[in-house]
Amino acid sequence: MVKDDMVMRQPLTAAIIGTGFGGIGMAIKLRQAGITDFVMLEKSDRIGGTWRDNTYPGAACDVPSPLYSFSFEQDFDWPRFYSGQSDIHRYQQHCVDKYGLTPHVRFHSEVRRADFDGQRGLWRIETSQGEVVLARALITATGQLNRPAYPKIQGLEKFRGKIFHSSRWDHGHDLSGRRVGVIGTGASAIQFLAPVAEQAGQVTLFQRTAPYVLPKPDRKITAFEHWLHRKAPPLRKLVRGTVYSIFETLGVGLLKFRPVLAPLKSAWSAHLRLTIKDPALRAKLTPDYPIGCKRILFDNTYYRALARPNVEVETGRIKEVGEDGVVTEDGVKHEIDTLILGTGFAASGFLAPMEIHGRDGRELSAAWRDGAEAYLGVTVSGFPNLFMLYGPNTNLGHNSIVYMLESQIQYVKEAIVGLRAAPGTSFDVKADVQNGFNASLQRALRNTVWAEGCKSWYFDKGKNVNNWGGFTFTYRRLTRRFDLASYQTLGSGAVASVEADARDHSTQPLESAVA
Ligand code: NAP
Repeated sequence: MVKDDMVMRQPLTAAIIGTGFGGIGMAIKLRQAGITDFVMLEKSDRIGGTWRDNTYPGAACDVPSPLYSFSFEQDFDWPRFYSGQSDIHRYQQHCVDKYGLTPHVRFHSEVRRADFDGQRGLWRIETSQGEVVLARALITATGQLNRPAYPKIQGLEKFRGKIFHSSRWDHGHDLSGRRVGVIGTGASAIQFLAPVAEQAGQVTLFQRTAPYVLPKPDRKITAFEHWLHRKAPPLRKLVRGTVYSIFETLGVGLLKFRPVLAPLKSAWSAHLRLTIKDPALRAKLTPDYPIGCKRILFDNTYYRALARPNVEVETGRIKEVGEDGVVTEDGVKHEIDTLILGTGFAASGFLAPMEIHGRDGRELSAAWRDGAEAYLGVTVSGFPNLFMLYGPNTNLGHNSIVYMLESQIQYVKEAIVGLRAAPGTSFDVKADVQNGFNASLQRALRNTVWAEGCKSWYFDKGKNVNNWGGFTFTYRRLTRRFDLASYQTLGSGAVASVEADARDHSTQPLESAVA
């Protein structure tokens, strides 16, 4: 129930949902464009998104830091080429502090529902605190991987030991000497398996599908390198550009020309041979689908951990979970004290569980009945002034999501500047533009390696709803300018006076804008 005194009467230019890389980057670029009347709504008590939530042991990024960081904020003392979770989170906090974003953030403010008021051209956004925020633009920066996916396994609720998901790690739970069961072999599980195996008495890894795991060329970044990069910033650009080009080449293999992936398959095969001596275990760890169909993983610890005497790889399907263990379909009961779910995320739900209502009360979940889609992954017809960062079909299998976010941020920033220049108007992407874009995108996706028959989290209702089907530089070109011609312009100055008021208050601290 929303109380009247919780309604923020002064409409803002924008409300951003989320304070991960997307939200932070968007806020920085709005401020740099002179737009300060916006709020960042954060459900948690700290900034950071996925890099705040995923604190499991070994959590790290498999994209090198010079590329997995903002192009405009490169001067950072990364200790390693591939950074761990705590350093990435420290980088995010550094950006928030340096660009003065904290006054914009409202913590403990989970968005429950947002309604587009066509009369006034405003989004009415309700938070878990019972607050209502009015804003011309609603920018979602909630990521694709923020809601844990809990497996539908019979009896899971009966388990009497400790159970948690990898993104909700229980650091107070001591694994020493315990019999630990791990379900899942994705990017998260392969990172935490080794630290868990070092601590636990016994580990049983329940593998449904074997991943391709390649060595990760990680190393320390020396003090000399940091000094050199500060003295000669173009060198930094060179490193970033080189890393970008190498990763983009991988895209050629995933998207169009499979032979490009052959050297990666050889590197995987050598990695497996060198680390796993037991032929039976090697056979278990050999994937039965083309490399790249599921995400290619990079890690130096996983296979070595699987070769430890206290680790067992169980490939039998899980039949059920009981009070004290996991039963596989062959009837064997594996006694377990702690069950860790590395089972991934509900990635196809995008903005769920938020209820988003666009023009004439239309629900986003209804518009996405056949699977999520958007124009450029950013806008959806019937939902004016709703802009998504890392929305449908903007995930990658080969490059940095931060690069994609920067493309989207540029596009959305231009849209917001356009909105401010035209008080009272709203931009609604034309349905035929959205349909044409998605028809051609889905055609392109049919030729990618992701369509070659494996099961991955990229698909929903038979459609690839998560991945971008082209090169990242193509996406950058498409999003370089806000293409107003693709949009229907709604409204006629009905909110002109409101807009003028909002501008008057734009330099005031947020709190004073609350009625
Ligand atoms: P994921 O890739 O979706 O992996 C989930 C795992 O759980 C899969 O191995 C899956 O098996 C298994 N699983 C799910 N339900 C199961 C069931 N009922 N029974 C048995 N096994 C089950 O999830 P994730 O590892 O958390 O990674 C998700 C994404 O996060 C990655 O693809 C990546 O984009 C991102 N990530 C990135 C990094 C990084 O370094 N940048 C690190 C971690 C995560 P199947 O394969 O058979 O479905």
